[in-house]
Amino acid sequence: MYNEKILDHFMNPRNLGVLEDADGIGVLGDPACGDYIKVYIKVTDEHISDIRFQIAGCPAAIACGSAMTELAKGKSIDEAAEICDADILEYLGGLPEEKAHCSNLGAGALQNAIVDYMIKSLQQSHNHVVVI
Ligand SMILES: [Zn+2]
Repeated sequence: MYNEKILDHFMNPRNLGVLEDADGIGVLGDPACGDYIKVYIKVTDEHISDIRFQIAGCPAAIACGSAMTELAKGKSIDEAAEICDADILEYLGGLPEEKAHCSNLGAGALQNAIVDYMIKSLQQSHNHVVVI
């Protein structure tokens, strides 16, 4: 059902855990599978210098979360913002059709973490302005 690369990322997820001093945090859930993912990013010079994730989910979601962190690490914020589910599927060599939706979770949570980072940095640069 799953290829070897997916099984490897499921059994040994990369960058699992929490970043205590994260610059951005994104969460996303998928009611269809009951998957839930939380992504933490550390940003240095507009690049993702570190990334971690926590997940409760099916094997496909865990593998996709792990793949997403590998794809995002070291990328500029602009590049990372363009990572989509197709990139994750390509990296993992494809998912069974009925599990393809699980790849959206990793990409979506990363986008949410980037938006969170951007809002925070806007708030810092406009000290007394509320930016929504
Ligand atoms: Zn799933």
